[in-house]
This record gives sequence, structure tokens and C-alpha cells, in this order.
Amino acid sequence: MTEAAGAAALEALHEQIRACVACPLSRTRIQAVPGDGPVTARIMAVGEAPGETEDRTGRPFVGSAGQLLTKLLEGVGLERADLYICNVLKCRPPGNRDPLPEEVEACARFLDAQVELIKPDVILLLGRHALQRILPGAPSISRAHGTRIRDRGRLYVPLYHPAAALYNGSMLGTLQEDMRRVRQYLDDAEAERARVAAATAMSDAEAEAVAAAHEQMTLF
Ligand code: URA
Repeated sequence: MTEAAGAAALEALHEQIRACVACPLSRTRIQAVPGDGPVTARIMAVGEAPGETEDRTGRPFVGSAGQLLTKLLEGVGLERADLYICNVLKCRPPGNRDPLPEEVEACARFLDAQVELIKPDVILLLGRHALQRILPGAPSISRAHGTRIRDRGRLYVPLYHPAAALYNGSMLGTLQEDMRRVRQYLDDAEAERARVAAATAMSDAEAEAVAAAHEQMTLF
């Protein structure tokens, strides 16, 4: 798929999400919050559900937790605008209560479609709800945070939800430390890609040399 076709498909998906009435949250929301970021994003971040500011603006992670997320990313040299950011639930649960299993189920096809369209190199799972939804068999967030989990060809890094660090100062240090690990995982993935590209280029050059030698021989 070309970049333009991918962007159009993502926008069409966002429109479907905005029009969704599959669960009762559609009656209490101001607006749905589909997701934000380029279809070409190599990093995707998945949070829990929109809060009050997100419900008002229609954009994910724009309240205080979102501002902290932006700072955490910038702290390791990552630009928020380069990520695709969304949530398990696309509509705000009243009073910011935890998502209900039937709400997660009703929204599941949208998150699955987002992952399929973006095909990110790494997915940051922000908090226990994102972890449970995407990797149901994984250890709890308190054990899994900051680790690199490979599952069916994708790379995931569970992290504490930035909102937790707004109320618990010691968690901020843990999140910063885990973000440094994310940076390292990304650098490792980039180095691996470069190694594979170099190996492919080398074998292309070798193949050309063999072909040239063969041509020489047939000339004589
Ligand atoms: N918390 C979330 O999980 N998602 C948002 O979009 C905002 C706050």
C-alpha cells in the first residue's frame, strides 16, 4: 500500500470510530477519540481510554498525562509527532472509571485495525489495561514494565501509565528509566536493520561479481 493509500485508509477508520455506537459509551461521550499520528509511524503507543480533555478535544493524550508522555519521549530524543498514539477504548468512560470488559470487546476491532494499518516496529503498552488487552497472557505490569516482549513477529514494551507517575513521584524515575530502555531497544532494532541491509547489499555485490566473472569466461 502506498503512503497516501495508507493515510486514506487510516482516516476512513478514524471516521468509522467517530460514528461508532456499538456500546453505551457512545451516549455519554462528547466525541470519540480515534488516534493521532502518521500512518508511517514506527512506534505506536496504546493507552487506556480518553479522559476529560481528550473527550473535549477528540485527541488522545492531550491532558496532564499526555503532557508527561510528551516529556518522557523528548527525554530520550523521541518526537511525539513521530508516534501513532491511541487507546484501548475510543470513548471516555464516565468519571474516568476503568474500562468494562464488554467495552474493551466492543472496541477491539478498531485497535486491531490500527495495528494492522500502522504495522509499527514497536508498540508501547501504557498501563495494565493496554497490556491485558494486547498480551492477555503476559505477567502483570509491575513485573513486565520496561521489558521487551516479542509476540507473533511484533515487539512490545509494557510501561507504567504516565498518569500513575503524576500521583507517585517514585514511579516517574521508573518510567524515565524504562523510556531509556525503549530508546535502547529502538537503537538495537535499527542496528539490526542496518546489518541485514548491509548483508543484502553485500550479497548483491557478490552476485554481480560472480555474474561479471561468468560473462568474462563466456567471452573467451
Ligand atoms: N489516559 C489515557 O489512557 N489515554 C488518554 O488519551 C489520556 C489519558
